Amino acid sequence: MSRARVLVMNSALGPLDYRVPHGMQVEPGSIVVAPLGPRQLIGVVWEPERMPSDAEVGDNRLRNLIGVLPAAPLAAPLRRLIEWTADYYLAPPAAVARMALASSSALEGAKTVTEYRATGLVPDRMTPQREQALEQIGNHQGLIRELATIGNVTDAVIRGLAKVGALEAVEVDIDSPFALPDPDFAAPALSPDQRAAAATLVDSVTARAFAPTLLDGVTGSGKTEVYFEAVAAAVRERRQTLVLLPEIALTEPFLTRFAARFGAKPVAWHSGLRQSQRRRAWRAISSGQALVTVGARSSLFLPYANLGLIVIDEAHETSFKQEEGVHYHARDVAVMRAKFEKIPVILASATPAIETRQQVALGRYAEVKLPGRWGAAEMPAIEAIDLIAEPPERGHWIAPRLVVAMRETLARHEQSLLFLNRRGYAPLTLCRTCGHRFQCPNCTAWMVEHRLVHRLACHHCGHTEPVPTVCPECQSEDSLVPVGPGVERIADEVKALFPEARTAVITSDTIWSPAKAAEFVARMEAHDIDIIVGTQLVTKGYHFPNLTLVGVIDADLGLDGGDLRASERTFQQICQVAGRAGRGAKPGHVYIQTHSPKASVMQALVSGDAEAFYAAETEHRREAGAPPFGRFAGIIVSSEDQKAALETARLIGRSAPHHEAMEVYGPAPAPLAMLRGRHRFRLLVHAKRALDVQDIIRDWLGALDWPSKVRVVVDVDPYSF
Ligand code: ADP
Ligand code: ZN
Ligand code: ZN
Repeated sequence: MSRARVLVMNSALGPLDYRVPHGMQVEPGSIVVAPLGPRQLIGVVWEPERMPSDAEVGDNRLRNLIGVLPAAPLAAPLRRLIEWTADYYLAPPAAVARMALASSSALEGAKTVTEYRATGLVPDRMTPQREQALEQIGNHQGLIRELATIGNVTDAVIRGLAKVGALEAVEVDIDSPFALPDPDFAAPALSPDQRAAAATLVDSVTARAFAPTLLDGVTGSGKTEVYFEAVAAAVRERRQTLVLLPEIALTEPFLTRFAARFGAKPVAWHSGLRQSQRRRAWRAISSGQALVTVGARSSLFLPYANLGLIVIDEAHETSFKQEEGVHYHARDVAVMRAKFEKIPVILASATPAIETRQQVALGRYAEVKLPGRWGAAEMPAIEAIDLIAEPPERGHWIAPRLVVAMRETLARHEQSLLFLNRRGYAPLTLCRTCGHRFQCPNCTAWMVEHRLVHRLACHHCGHTEPVPTVCPECQSEDSLVPVGPGVERIADEVKALFPEARTAVITSDTIWSPAKAAEFVARMEAHDIDIIVGTQLVTKGYHFPNLTLVGVIDADLGLDGGDLRASERTFQQICQVAGRAGRGAKPGHVYIQTHSPKASVMQALVSGDAEAFYAAETEHRREAGAPPFGRFAGIIVSSEDQKAALETARLIGRSAPHHEAMEVYGPAPAPLAMLRGRHRFRLLVHAKRALDVQDIIRDWLGALDWPSKVRVVVDVDPYSF
């Protein structure tokens, strides 16, 4: 009798064993339908030795598998990736595998529709409608409905023509293939630096071996053009490329740019796809027809038939870290996928993470550099504005020197960008009479006023309410005051200063779809916008040659909180936003408003000495035993019942194993002590690099029990520490 171990798509369950009925063919990776109680679940067949079961079941108690789906089995490198991700991030393997099987409709295989085409046969019995239809249809092919429209007749006329043989029925796949990119469509002439960098990357593609490379080039150096050469090399070999982008908002401009270079758009994969688009993309990816896919994090787990290259663009971006469901870092998982697939992976960034630089220093990653901007463009000049020495006017946030620069920029008909990483009008609203502050009922967070929509909103759970006219505490009227600026408030200040200028607020509130992003790009290119006021959404990827001035409203914002990554994050963010200035022939200028111009990160930004800054930060991390020299894992305990959460967190803390290479801090209230109505506590595990913390945590938590209303999630390599 033959049995199969199956990873069923239920995260609460481990792998289960089934009987393979006579005549059914399965192999590791096969996608099957398995019974579970009264239900039927999709599952993936796994090698039993690689996926131990906690409950071996005797042959006589096995249930039969129901069927095998027509989709191709998941290949061994992808199965290794699923195992690795589940193991490393302490996640249920089924939750990881589900990201690979992301379109249940595609798993069912091809679906066809009947189309008709003219055969040239003239029907014996001709009617005016038939004549008219055949004349109009000509060589068209299509569904009954379409042909009826083209021929301007009823569906019945078309059916009649098919019946008498004047139209022939053909079965076609509903998922039409994607247009193929042409590697030679519009290849740019590269500069000598770019050519050398591209040659190294192309070699890594043709060598067909695991090879991680950091493509380290200043903003505007042409990193995209350079890695496009590697993509072209993979396309020439008919091998697939995955380009990972940090944000969906960036996919649309990327598609346009890619099409200009390759004559066809790549396949886009993101959470906004309709079911039919998802199905078509999944099938083209798993058959190998889709040669280039661009996507956000989740595209990493798709079953590429013939992957030849992975590119991680803006590889330093924090949004590659997934903080819900399976907590994983897409950058790190991408490198592992490349390793299992034995292919090159390119990490492109102007401000690589310290972790990535360390891999280069250790010789594990190759490095390719682009030292200067492409063409005539120069790096922008960066100045700090000391907010204590040169304060803005009372009740304002833009310092006089920046106002002057904005006026001059407008006079030259060039564009400006003011950056403040805070959505809404004001981060806090309070009552002037009694001091009441508006807090989210579900989270430990202030409600943020959004004037564009006249509401108070929580940025953590999405709760909103109308802006009240009287204070709910003391009933005073007109006593509510906004405290501090958000982008909307800065935009008001800009409009008051420059009423003639066209000002646009660019945040996730205004750019909430790829179409909105495309519209924004078009307006910038047509110079319908003079001044952008935006959040981190505008810091990445965009290339506007006429944008020559960047002002950072509050450079100190990211330094609060005191976590060890704060300086690095601030440096990266300000470098990226500064990198939007002066990307064309006109020189760029950047002003950084700060209360601490002497801080090492501000000094590094002004002097442009990234190396010295990184060296000092790396040393700092080494001393603290922080990544990449040591490691952290968070254990987050949450429940709607605060007492239950705290008791479980304490139980976990008390049961912590003793290890000289490891320390456990907490439990303490998590950074957001209440989120979406759940109270949260966090234990932080700090360990030496060499220690297998995952194994320790698995044993530690595995021996404990807690009430079902308490959720315990492990965050391996948490973003903040
Ligand atoms: P980065 O990703 O390094 O910030 P980009 O790849 O966006 O830089 O390049 C910046 C701008 O310079 C883009 O408009 C790009 O098309 C242009 N560019 C870069 N290299 C070339 C080249 N060799 N030929 C033509 N245009 C180039
Ligand atoms: Zn009040
Ligand atoms: Zn909330």
